Amino acid sequence: MKRRYKLLLALLVLIGVPYYWLLIDNRPGDGPGAQLDIAELRRLAESIPGPKPEAVAVQTVGWRRVPGTLFVAGGGLKRNLLTIQAGLLSGPWGEIVIDGGFGAQDAEEFGLEAFRPDHQARVDAAMRRARRIVFTHEHLDHIGGLLRLPDFAQVAPKALITPEQMRGNRWADGLPWPRGARESLRAFRYSGMTAIAPGVVLIRTPGHTPGSQMVYARLADGREALFAGDTATMERSWRQVRARSRLVGDLMVGEDRAAVFAWLKAVNRLHRENPELIVIAGHDEEALRFAKPPPGIAFEFPAP
Ligand SMILES: [Zn+2]
Repeated sequence: MKRRYKLLLALLVLIGVPYYWLLIDNRPGDGPGAQLDIAELRRLAESIPGPKPEAVAVQTVGWRRVPGTLFVAGGGLKRNLLTIQAGLLSGPWGEIVIDGGFGAQDAEEFGLEAFRPDHQARVDAAMRRARRIVFTHEHLDHIGGLLRLPDFAQVAPKALITPEQMRGNRWADGLPWPRGARESLRAFRYSGMTAIAPGVVLIRTPGHTPGSQMVYARLADGREALFAGDTATMERSWRQVRARSRLVGDLMVGEDRAAVFAWLKAVNRLHRENPELIVIAGHDEEALRFAKPPPGIAFEFPAP
């Protein structure tokens, strides 16, 4: 081989192998995945008597565009809209807020292209009205909205924050907790799955972070929704079983990739077996809203 070709080959390997490894590699492994059993979720959804939620809403508070493959390994370089969003279940029992958006100061630090204080104000108002507040995980773009509330001390007691979301890992410990907050709040402990309201079930899904969980809801009219959090950042994550790129998942987040794959397989299977289930990815309002929007979801929280 001529020297010139050897050099070219060496360059290809030097650039190509890390490129593949860091941005494209998406081998989910042969394992069967984790278990999410719809019968058990439905049973738990019935375990607290009372009226089930009647409405689901998703509120985007800000966004940025990033190359798809960063959050959906092998998903191409085309930029995807990544929305920072909160969820809301409402009905006669009361409202449940799922993730609290962002504080304005944190949105700037996160490099969002757009942050809408008027939209965040709707989320803040919902947290103040809510009977319960839960978080899909202990990242700033999910829990920051609560921590930055000026009236945090009044609102926080309604939040069910798990021990892993509160302390003991670099994410929880790095959050801007108000002074004395963690000492005064009692962590919400459960193992596996637990109902927190009529029709509403928390599912522990550690992997993306130690405190990651999903929220399953069975509505009064029989519709079912699953807030998947950042285990599935984008809709393609769970539909195609694609984890984050290693650049983001391994190097930046330090997540348990095998566990994330196991949960993605579980969500994928749950949806295949129950095609009516509305799966709400952590940051993908675009796919939820514009491709084939599930009936009856609002994309705005009530005005404060
Ligand atoms: Zn997130």
